[in-house]
Amino acid sequence: MEQKLFDLIYASVLAKEHTYDGIYYTCVRTTRIFCRPSCRARTPYPQNVRFVNSPEEAMKLGFRPCKRCKPEEAGELGPDEIMAAKADHLIEQGLSRPVTLNILAGQLAVSPFHLQKVYKRVKGYSPAEYLQSVRMKEAKKLLAQDGPTVAMISRAVGFRSPSHFTVWFKREAGCSPRDYRELYMEGDRV
Ligand SMILES: [Zn+2]
Repeated sequence: MEQKLFDLIYASVLAKEHTYDGIYYTCVRTTRIFCRPSCRARTPYPQNVRFVNSPEEAMKLGFRPCKRCKPEEAGELGPDEIMAAKADHLIEQGLSRPVTLNILAGQLAVSPFHLQKVYKRVKGYSPAEYLQSVRMKEAKKLLAQDGPTVAMISRAVGFRSPSHFTVWFKREAGCSPRDYRELYMEGDRV
């Protein structure tokens, strides 16, 4: 495992965050126990840690599941579903920042190819398609409000310039942002 990737996952162990739960498992060499990265029971030293991709792999290497975080119980969602759900979450939370497959994959500590393949299998559409639909939903929601200008909305949904936003909106929605707002306001009054 690359040091950069290790550091990324280990940071989530220190912070006890759920970012990599279901994607990686923390094997602790000193105790021969493996955990979810977010486990609250223990914070192992990095030199004692090895991350693996599945509970099966950990058990094959001779590690026993932690009784506290029960890493062998996947719950309702399998690892692929968990990864897809996390990608969705990152897309929804990061809407005003540039989001690409590479960025998402980096945040999830997997390869872009793997993320694209797994996500599409789970969801039936690609992360890029989901991003477009979330952007459009948010843009329409903001256009339906009186306050935000088109420039503010274009920034809020991740476009660098209002003109790019307008071209995209026209192509996807069939009318300009201003027309959409007018139509919506008229419809609202009736
Ligand atoms: Zn644990």
